[in-house]
Amino acid sequence: MTAPVFVALDTTDLARAKALAAAVAPHVMGVKLGMEFFYAHGGAGAREVAGETPLFLDLKLHDIPNTVAGGLRAVLGHVQPRYINVHAGGGPEMLVRAAEAVAEASNSETRILAVTVLTSLDDGDLTAVGQNGPAAEQVLRLAKLAEAQGCHGVVCSSAEVAMLRREMGPDFDLVVPGIRPAGADAQDQKRIMTPPDAMAAGATALVIGRPITGAADPAEAARAIAASMA
Ligand code: C5P
Repeated sequence: MTAPVFVALDTTDLARAKALAAAVAPHVMGVKLGMEFFYAHGGAGAREVAGETPLFLDLKLHDIPNTVAGGLRAVLGHVQPRYINVHAGGGPEMLVRAAEAVAEASNSETRILAVTVLTSLDDGDLTAVGQNGPAAEQVLRLAKLAEAQGCHGVVCSSAEVAMLRREMGPDFDLVVPGIRPAGADAQDQKRIMTPPDAMAAGATALVIGRPITGAADPAEAARAIAASMA
């Protein structure tokens, strides 16, 4: 049984990404490729790494509606990820055009997630960019907006997952990074949760990178995390 985890392959090394994907695929739902990999290898590289493994393509698009919709159509013309994402802060029109582009361009298996507030921003950072009010309020506002415009879910931190599950109901996908197995190094993540705790709080799926990719034996690390969630 595979665990609802996407392993973040944050690398520009195609061979390493392929080897990691093959090592973890028996234990987890899928892999996540973001800007770092995609800007180096594009859709062809993403297809090569993921193969039959479900892919979360973490591109975090944010531009005018026409450009975001065009970008999504372009990428979905040759990659069929399980998840793709845009920034909710792009506004209602951008979100609705993005959701439409995903619905039309994909095989309908692709789900679109919105990024609400980056977990690297705290309340002081939000004030600095003119968004007053607690981060949690902004997260909920943007999650509601994303849902209203046709997005299937959001990426959120473990600090918000219980609140969002309560407020958004059972069918809205909550994909949660910043996950560390008990006793693992937090590295640069500020707010962390263990895999079982994040699932208990209402996560749909988790994003886990370095605790797996940085382990001496990534397959064993993925297996152990999956076992902890069973
Ligand atoms: O190595 P680690 O488990 O910290 O990796 C987490 C992954 O999730 C990275 O790819 C990071 O970019 C991503 N991510 C995050 N926080 C967010 C959104 C994405 O850590 N808010």
